[in-house]
Amino acid sequence: MERIYIGMGSNLADPADQLRSAVQALAQLPDSRFVGVSAFYQSDSLLPGQPRYTNAVAAIDSTLAPLDLLDALQAIELDQGRERHERWGPRTLDLDILLFGDRLIDDARLKVPHYHMHARPFVLYPLAELAPASLQLADGRTLSQLLADCPFIGLERIAP
Ligand code: ATP
Ligand code: CA
Ligand code: CA
Repeated sequence: MERIYIGMGSNLADPADQLRSAVQALAQLPDSRFVGVSAFYQSDSLLPGQPRYTNAVAAIDSTLAPLDLLDALQAIELDQGRERHERWGPRTLDLDILLFGDRLIDDARLKVPHYHMHARPFVLYPLAELAPASLQLADGRTLSQLLADCPFIGLERIAP
């Protein structure tokens, strides 16, 4: 089993409900054990003109191969009405693989660690609820170092 952290985001169709449904779906993944989910965090979209986002991080333990997990996560996104139009467009559900054990993955469909997680407060703060501050990323920086460089600005923590 490897510990996997999954970033979840939504800004359409009752985002908190979308995240709760996603948690139910993650708990049903084959060859996996659900570990936990952070509180939910709201923030303004990085792109102007989009509804506010709700984000959270979930942890699972799994023996699934990384691309099989990605397939399963994309099926959950589609199940919850994800439509892909413009890049970074509004979405009912986004599921990103943040960390997969201590693996470095460089596949056309899958890059792990997720390339933007180091600088995204709506990823790092919920991740810190589940992962130890000493958690080390591939570049050697720890989660606590990343948090120190990523102020808690524009985030609103809401009940799980
Ligand atoms: P961002 O990647 O900046 O968070 P996004 O989540 O909106 O943007 P998507 O449209 O959801 O981007 O995904 C585009 C593609 O990214 C997916 O089809 C998938 O193959 C690829 N991808 C690469 N690495 C990952 C990862 N770690 N987790 C999920 N998808 C990934
Ligand atoms: Ca994303
Ligand atoms: Ca995504």
